[in-house]
Amino acid sequence: MDDAQLLRYSRHLLLPQWDAEIQQRLTDARVLLVGAGGLGCAVAPYLVAAGVGTVHIVDDDEVDLSNLQRQILYGTTSLGQPKVAAARQRLHDLNPGVQVIPHRVRLDAGWLTGRHFDLVLDGSDNFATRYTVNAFCVRQGIGLISGAALGWQGQLAVFDASKSGEACYACLYHFGQGDEEDSCTRSGVIGPLVGVVGSMMALEAIKWLGQLERSVVGALIVYDALHSVFRQIRLRQDPECPVCAGRNLA
Ligand SMILES: [Zn+2]
Repeated sequence: MDDAQLLRYSRHLLLPQWDAEIQQRLTDARVLLVGAGGLGCAVAPYLVAAGVGTVHIVDDDEVDLSNLQRQILYGTTSLGQPKVAAARQRLHDLNPGVQVIPHRVRLDAGWLTGRHFDLVLDGSDNFATRYTVNAFCVRQGIGLISGAALGWQGQLAVFDASKSGEACYACLYHFGQGDEEDSCTRSGVIGPLVGVVGSMMALEAIKWLGQLERSVVGALIVYDALHSVFRQIRLRQDPECPVCAGRNLA
């Protein structure tokens, strides 16, 4: 690390649990962020500011006036721009030392084929994408940090497909159980909630990549923002899970 990097990351380096080796792990990391909406807008700046070396962001949407109530990477001048382009511009300004790679596509299994990441963060807004992303992570045997926010309720789960016997997203939600229409467009979402959940996703990602504490793995955190209550629910692998059951890990 040069002097500027030492200064940039000094408030992390001052932490007793942190050192140059951990910072290097972040530098070497390659992550995929699915979705540049409310959750992505909170996740991405914290990953980039922390020095996560390569951040791929996938989103096919453009910035709309109704996004600005919570999608804080964008401003009035971003209206009509592809979200990934506007996000990249802001993130590059935040930390030019990391690579932010925008992909203006709707993520599907074909796009994921042949790609490799150390960790995936899913802040997408529909179950089809979540299933595709989960299946990819299970196949690759990599971590998945999944966030959701709707109305006043937020959820966060960390899945570790590198270990056998761990639950995956499909163990938690069976296919077809998710309501495709139950989106923010229809139900609304309280703005700061996406910031809370997105920040937690980034925090768990930084701990994962730095190989620090992984206390949330195998648990679902549910946040009731209206009553300010957090609950933690243990997750178990579903022996009938169509995605992860019966996997053989070396
Ligand atoms: Zn499963």
